[in-house]
Amino acid sequence: MAFDLTPTTAQHDLARRAHEFAETVIRPVAADYDKRQEFPWPVLQEAAARGFYSPLFYRDLIGDPTGLSLPLFMEEIFWGCAGIGLAVVMPALALSAIGQAATPEQMLQWAPECFGTASDIKLAALAISEPEGGSDVRNLRTTAHRDGSDWVINGHKMWIGNGGIANVHVVNAVVDQELGHRGQALFIVPGGTPGLTMVRKLDKLGCRASHTAELKFDNVRVPAENLLGGQDRLEHKLSKAREVAEMATTGARRGGSATLGTFEQTRPMVAAQALGIARAALEYVTEYANRREAFGAPIINNQGIAFPLADLATRIDAARLLTWRASWMAATGVPFERGEGSMSKLASSEVAVATTERAIQTMGVGATSAIIRWRSGTGMPSSTPSSRAPARSSGSSSPTRWAPATGPRPCTSTSSPRGDR
Ligand SMILES: Cc1cc2nc3c(=O)[nH]c(=O)nc-3n(C[C@H](O)[C@H](O)[C@H](O)COP(=O)(O)OP(=O)(O)OC[C@H]3O[C@@H](n4cnc5c(N)ncnc54)[C@H](O)[C@@H]3O)c2cc1C
Repeated sequence: MAFDLTPTTAQHDLARRAHEFAETVIRPVAADYDKRQEFPWPVLQEAAARGFYSPLFYRDLIGDPTGLSLPLFMEEIFWGCAGIGLAVVMPALALSAIGQAATPEQMLQWAPECFGTASDIKLAALAISEPEGGSDVRNLRTTAHRDGSDWVINGHKMWIGNGGIANVHVVNAVVDQELGHRGQALFIVPGGTPGLTMVRKLDKLGCRASHTAELKFDNVRVPAENLLGGQDRLEHKLSKAREVAEMATTGARRGGSATLGTFEQTRPMVAAQALGIARAALEYVTEYANRREAFGAPIINNQGIAFPLADLATRIDAARLLTWRASWMAATGVPFERGEGSMSKLASSEVAVATTERAIQTMGVGATSAIIRWRSGTGMPSSTPSSRAPARSSGSSSPTRWAPATGPRPCTSTSSPRGDR
């Protein structure tokens, strides 16, 4: 299929419905949830009622052969609010990891558990990051060892969306220390499993309506069936990884890992989230600059105000094109040979930060009161701290530069030759 930028009727309809949901359901309550740092359960119920919170919805988005549906949806929801947006889409991150690693039977069993229904909302979490290893997935220290018919998980996870309150935790753990990040596997840990504890819910500067937590795994026991992909596939993967490790000692090219594969796959998704934040901030500040008068004229009449906003509008469009391209490549199975997934996230997350910072600069003291009004429900729709979230999640910006910087690599699943995200 050729890369075509013309949205279909169904994609137009999806974007319109998502925008309407963001404008009429998310935005009116966003400031309140942000201020109180509360989880937006009613918004998730409404999302489920409208068909935006279910595994079948994401199956359709991911199954769209043009790749455009997923970024169109993400951009609109995050245009509404980055924190509530994270809460709404977090299970999709876990689902993506399950989709990459699970057997079809495991997918059928766990995908519904990640979302529940409008009358019985469930949550899912993807637990990768640790205090000692965020970007550097080689440094993850959570371990899993086989004990009879169980796996026993021990470790410490950090910054986990829905962590501790999720019905399903997809947890990565090292099963073979010598193989580094290639010796890791993904496990399903249901909420409430003995030994899984939420140490604390983290207090955040932005995205405060989403729940982010620190978790401890203390002899957490899960049945062998909870190893995603199953034992045979794990053995196969480990033996391939040993071959690759041997090749690496002889200077041959190195391969990838399931964890890194998940990040490269989800990067266009995070990129689209950043675009929603950037667009919301640009719209807000443009409207402000047209309305605000200084020295007898709207401040937008000054080139010093207008041109940077024009540059940002251009950068947002450019980032959107990179995002749609990466999403199209993922949907059509075109390999990310030059780190195109990382490029899309890099460009989008950086422009989200640049736009919110420019908005604050442009608005002068108005920005301070707008943020205060935002906290009280009427002001700026996207604050600077939230804009930094996409630059941090699924790998922060600097490590994300490795994939584009290191040139052609013939696979879809490796984000970095160094083993960082
Ligand atoms: C809102 C939010 C939600 C999140 N949700 C989840 C979640 O659900 N599950 C999960 O597992 N994780 C989650 N995270 C964690 C996130 O994925 C990590 O924060 C991210 O991978 C970065 O890791 P780190 O914070 O340890 O940064 P570090 O790796 O410690 O990086 C610190 C700084 O050093 C820079 N840096 C690192 N390596 C290099 C390098 N090689 N070259 C140059 N500079 C470098 C980085 O750019 C950054 O500025 C979330 C984070 C946020 C902000």
